[in-house]
Amino acid sequence: MEYVNKRICKKCLLQDIAPEEYLKSMKSYLDRLDDEVKTGESLYQKRIGLCLECDYLAEGICKICGCFVEYRAAIKLRGCPAIHPKW
Ligand code: SF4
Repeated sequence: MEYVNKRICKKCLLQDIAPEEYLKSMKSYLDRLDDEVKTGESLYQKRIGLCLECDYLAEGICKICGCFVEYRAAIKLRGCPAIHPKW
């Protein structure tokens, strides 16, 4: 399935999107988040850094919640789903 530039395909699975296109799609999504929803850059980097040190991180996905951590960390109101949250 071809990724259409600057459009979100709600019916695409990740397996249908080439890695480079997926990365562009993720960055575009994060860029378009409203400021009141979006985590500030320093807090975002702190969250991602904690995920990088976490045993539950696998290929960008949190094994507890199944979220791509870059998306989860980018939403201000989201939190780490661990029993003892890391962020
Ligand atoms: S969200 Fe929490 S549990 Fe999941 S990978 Fe990140 S630090 Fe680990």
